[in-house]
Amino acid sequence: MSIERMVVVGASLAGLRAVEAARKAGFGGSITLIGAERHLPYNRPPLSKAFLAPLAGGGEPQPPFFRPAEVYADGLGVDLMLGEPATGLDTDRRVVRVGDRDVPYDVVVIATGARARTLPGTGRLQGVFALRTLEDALGVRAALDAGARTVVIGAGFIGSEVASAARKRGLDVTVVEALPTPLVRATGTRMGAAIAALHEANGTRLLCGTGVRAVEGGATVERVVLEDGTALEADLVVVGIGASPAVEWLEGSGLTLDNGIACDETMYTGVPGVYAAGDVANWFNGVMGRRQRLEHWTSAAEQGAIAACNALAPRHSTPYGTVPYFWSDWYDSRIQFVGSPEADEVRLVDGDASRDRRWIALYRSGDRLIGALTVNGPTDIMKYRGLIREQAGWDEALAFADKRRELAAAKAAVAV
Ligand code: FAD
Repeated sequence: MSIERMVVVGASLAGLRAVEAARKAGFGGSITLIGAERHLPYNRPPLSKAFLAPLAGGGEPQPPFFRPAEVYADGLGVDLMLGEPATGLDTDRRVVRVGDRDVPYDVVVIATGARARTLPGTGRLQGVFALRTLEDALGVRAALDAGARTVVIGAGFIGSEVASAARKRGLDVTVVEALPTPLVRATGTRMGAAIAALHEANGTRLLCGTGVRAVEGGATVERVVLEDGTALEADLVVVGIGASPAVEWLEGSGLTLDNGIACDETMYTGVPGVYAAGDVANWFNGVMGRRQRLEHWTSAAEQGAIAACNALAPRHSTPYGTVPYFWSDWYDSRIQFVGSPEADEVRLVDGDASRDRRWIALYRSGDRLIGALTVNGPTDIMKYRGLIREQAGWDEALAFADKRRELAAAKAAVAV
């Protein structure tokens, strides 16, 4: 079958990368990009970081759009349908439903990402936000500008970045976390505790092991009441309790929905012409030897490109495998993680997590290196990622860490 019409659903990072990769591969047919948000595709990581910082002279920062409007029409030759969510997928007729319209496709890449989870009962209260969209970020930013007493519910990465932004402005901030230790799923118990200590060190109050009983107020939020009855006065509440894949519009489509859209290692869903990419895709990651659904910028971008190329040339499909990677910026520290935190042992190989600004931990499973965490170690992290990809043994990784430490010490001695 010749492929003349490509449709991409989800106008964000993975969707845009799919469009760009299709054109780069020489696809000359039509491309339609359907997005639920009314904005041009924009970058989300800055929304919880630089976008929240005060601007000299006041005002709002520019939205972090990936490309200016003219690139879509002229450079990429793409028909944009923005502010119009897809409502269904008919894989027999090969159409994407958008309200009462049908958008026909030969191949479709689904990149509808994930939606922030919300706390039931808080929808009507002004001053309560999740942080996923540009509107969310504008709301949070305005509250910070007004000097809000801030409570963050959930000590995950996005919530912690908001806490950092609020503290940098000198505001009163409390982070509430239901689990005894934050970030256990992302970095393991010991390192989760070590990273969370950055909050206390920077003047943010961190309350762990306590649930939220109620978020109260009139029209506007006034306080967060914890399970033990403690009331935290608040003008801004940011709910950072994770995200769920945006798949509800695919119910009944015949795609396998299982923690996102199930795909094979080539991002193919098993339904002719249908591929998925980004935060919504639950795919077989051959490098880690298991199914994964990541919510990381780098893999979303790479999957978008691969899914498009494989959709257009299925006979030459290439698998996508990766050592997962994410970063997060807290206060003046950059946290980076590669691989998997599910380890038999976690060992600090550089620095002292309780004292130093910079430290590195390695994760062992059996006799292999499977993960690495750096705090302010940007030149090291990708080296460990390479070792994990090469399936380096634990002893090899430790020897490498020794060498890096010696090198750093020698450099420091020369600098003195
Ligand atoms: P998304 O960016 O979620 O985009 C999906 C798009 O599809 C959205 O625009 C959505 O509205 C649209 N959509 C949904 N349903 C429909 C429908 N039915 N029809 C049409 N369109 C639909 N990752 C890192 O590695 N490091 C970071 O520091 C980092 N910081 C982050 C900070 C924030 C505030 C957020 C929200 C995320 C951050 N991430 C970070 C994660 C990273 O941004 C995501 O992994 C990435 O955006 C995923 O891209 P995506 O295109 O798959 O999905």
